[in-house]
Amino acid sequence: MLPGRYGRKFEFQRLIKLMYDFVIIGGGIVGLSTGMALGKRYPQARIAVLEKESRLAAHQTGHNSGVIHSGIYYKPGSFKAKFTRQGNRSMVEFCREHGIAHEVCGKVIVATSEKELPLLKNLYKRGLENGLNVSKINAQEVKEIEPHLRCLAGIRVPTAGIVDFRQVCQKYTELIKSQGGEIWLNTKVEKILETRNGQVLETNNGTFETRFAINCAGLHSDRVAKLGGINPPAKIVPFRGEYYELKPEKRYLVKNLIYPVPNPAFPFLGVHFTRMIDGSVHAGPNAVLSLKREGYKKTDFDLGDFAEVIAYPGFWKLAAKHANEGIQEIIRSFSKAAFVHSLQQLIPEVQADDIVPTHAGVRAQALKNDGKLVDDFLIVKGQSSMHVCNAPSPAATASLEIGKAIVEQIPPDQSHLQAALRGST
Ligand SMILES: Cc1cc2nc3c(=O)[nH]c(=O)nc-3n(C[C@H](O)[C@H](O)[C@H](O)COP(=O)(O)OP(=O)(O)OC[C@H]3O[C@@H](n4cnc5c(N)ncnc54)[C@H](O)[C@@H]3O)c2cc1C
Repeated sequence: MLPGRYGRKFEFQRLIKLMYDFVIIGGGIVGLSTGMALGKRYPQARIAVLEKESRLAAHQTGHNSGVIHSGIYYKPGSFKAKFTRQGNRSMVEFCREHGIAHEVCGKVIVATSEKELPLLKNLYKRGLENGLNVSKINAQEVKEIEPHLRCLAGIRVPTAGIVDFRQVCQKYTELIKSQGGEIWLNTKVEKILETRNGQVLETNNGTFETRFAINCAGLHSDRVAKLGGINPPAKIVPFRGEYYELKPEKRYLVKNLIYPVPNPAFPFLGVHFTRMIDGSVHAGPNAVLSLKREGYKKTDFDLGDFAEVIAYPGFWKLAAKHANEGIQEIIRSFSKAAFVHSLQQLIPEVQADDIVPTHAGVRAQALKNDGKLVDDFLIVKGQSSMHVCNAPSPAATASLEIGKAIVEQIPPDQSHLQAALRGST
């Protein structure tokens, strides 16, 4: 135990590591992009990324659909709309510059029933409002792009693309290291103390002192914010997304990216077909409440995580409002026939024998006490800290922009930081 300054509050089991200017909690794509942007902005600064797992991109970043989104869906003027549109371009440029395999293949979003046609029309208008070069196409034009797709009408979005975000993260990591930044794996932040000079982070791998901390902890970002004395405006609720994969001999059914019109009441895009950058074709993800924050299997259960969700009034308000959709998602999760039925709305030829289960991902979705899902990206500022409290899809696409925005928001009047960063302009 260290006597003096922190002794009464914390028991330090190991020595304090060197003093850092910036410590980032979480080695997913948002944390890594932030580390890279900080290193670029402040080349003299001492920067570390702390990741609790033995590898980077172990959670949302390593379990997603790999789509470089265009930004069509989001409310004009929101951070999501702005950062995704810019992020689409910057991600493609980044991949080009660093030789990362990617493809701007475009996508189609289609209405398969009469009642979806007005939603498709609204989405088209939204795309125009967001400054995208989208076009309306009829069923025949859709067939020219995706011959096996059955629909009434569609929208073509030419700027959507595909990439493996784990490869993007590898490059971010190389750049962080080449700028002098450090990556600490197997390092879980367990306690945080705010001091006059910044933050002291106690981990299972020693204690880190930093002038400024940035919480990019994804599925645990609300908990890490609380450790740092911040009362987050929303709780993270985990929604698992399960995927099937088309058998190789059936990949011909999908050329690129096929999406249904999403339910505007939800932040999820509906079960869709995605050609991955490795050539495989995935179908999914659905969206079911996960009984464990990092639970990738249906049987995964964590009593603490589950109890936290069911004790939260916001969850019951959401459940009451969307009980029907929730039940449909659960049925689709347990019944392959129900999943195939959803896919057949898009491609009638798909049969149960054509698909096999593949990976799942868990989305970190912030939910407010009043039962409303936080739609936009949400960053909360502390005295010497910043907390990314909601970075769901398409935060991988937008990661370069989110990282830059975090760096720009670090208060210029942080005098202790300024002193440390002199000469880093
Ligand atoms: C099923 C699914 C499909 C998606 N599809 C797409 C898509 O096609 N395109 C797109 O742009 N986006 C997509 N997304 C969204 C995208 O993957 C996420 O928005 C993005 O990865 C979030 O990155 P992150 O760094 O915030 O979180 P994460 O990748 O979850 O990283 C957070 C990290 O923090 C670490 N951590 C947590 N607590 C601590 C602690 N106490 N100490 C140290 N480390 C800690 C975790 O181990 C983790 O590695 C999808 C997401 C899912 C789940």
